[in-house]
Amino acid sequence: MSARQAPPPLPSWATWWQRPFPDANTLLLHGRRPALVDSGFTGHAEETAAWAGERAGRVELVVNTHWHSDHVGGNALLQARGAGVAAGAPEAEAIARRDPGCCAAEYLDQPVAPYTVDVSLDDGQVLRLGDADWEVVRTPGHTPGHLALWQPDEGLLVVGDALSDYDVGWVNLALDGPGAAATALASLKRMADLAPRVVLPSHGPVPADPGAAFAAALRRAQRLVDDPAGAVWYGARRIFAFALMIRDGVPAGEVEPYLLARAWLTDAARLLGLAPEALAGELVTSMLGSGAVVLRDGRLRAAAPHTPVPAGSLRVPYPRAWPGPEPR
Ligand SMILES: [Zn+2]
Repeated sequence: MSARQAPPPLPSWATWWQRPFPDANTLLLHGRRPALVDSGFTGHAEETAAWAGERAGRVELVVNTHWHSDHVGGNALLQARGAGVAAGAPEAEAIARRDPGCCAAEYLDQPVAPYTVDVSLDDGQVLRLGDADWEVVRTPGHTPGHLALWQPDEGLLVVGDALSDYDVGWVNLALDGPGAAATALASLKRMADLAPRVVLPSHGPVPADPGAAFAAALRRAQRLVDDPAGAVWYGARRIFAFALMIRDGVPAGEVEPYLLARAWLTDAARLLGLAPEALAGELVTSMLGSGAVVLRDGRLRAAAPHTPVPAGSLRVPYPRAWPGPEPR
């Protein structure tokens, strides 16, 4: 066995923070326009803001790769402290009209503190972050509004949840339609064609070999296209593991009612041709069997390393109850 190969180095003006779940990895770009790419989970907003503040003094702009709760949770706090928020156009528009589907927060039962979007991003748009120009690359699939950020001089590509060193982003066939996996595959191909020197994924380590990471992700994405039921199962496992992480587990006796009350679970059951009760049972049994979840102290818990979340921080309204955008 050889030691893990070192990832390619980053320029001095970029600071990378690899974070355990439930926070997405965070990129800080130093310079005249200090910028943060993704802002972690709501329950860790203070920690995210403090980390960026210590290193950059202030954050002028937060750019979201997409609106899932582990990427936008610090938006509200950073915005209250003067930062702007930039996001892909479809998400920016939905956030502006306070669409109840924002962030899939209610659908996934993942709290997000209310925020607004100041800058709507389109494909090909060039954005100055720190002191460098970054190109917006629309990469729908994991979510319809998902985007990557490309810095051609240094060959840096921020890929969000589109891929990681070990996997590919899950796709939501119920919410985004049966074509979501093919859309994700096309986005991966587009990113691979950029031949980045450094791939910065939202979860896990920076891949030592970007080409190998793309090759693995493309194979995985093709399997999601070829096996829609497998794709539904993959999404269900990821969503449920995340729910357990942010709640410090769920009491064993409350797991089934929790699952049966979730829109994502009933949608997944419909796509799989199963009764929701059957899917809930199979999900728990299969995840216990694989070791992805464990029963400890009477609670079902996610096995993957994760940072505890203060329970009070989950008590934020779903987007349907978000206050209207403040005049800015
Ligand atoms: Zn995501």
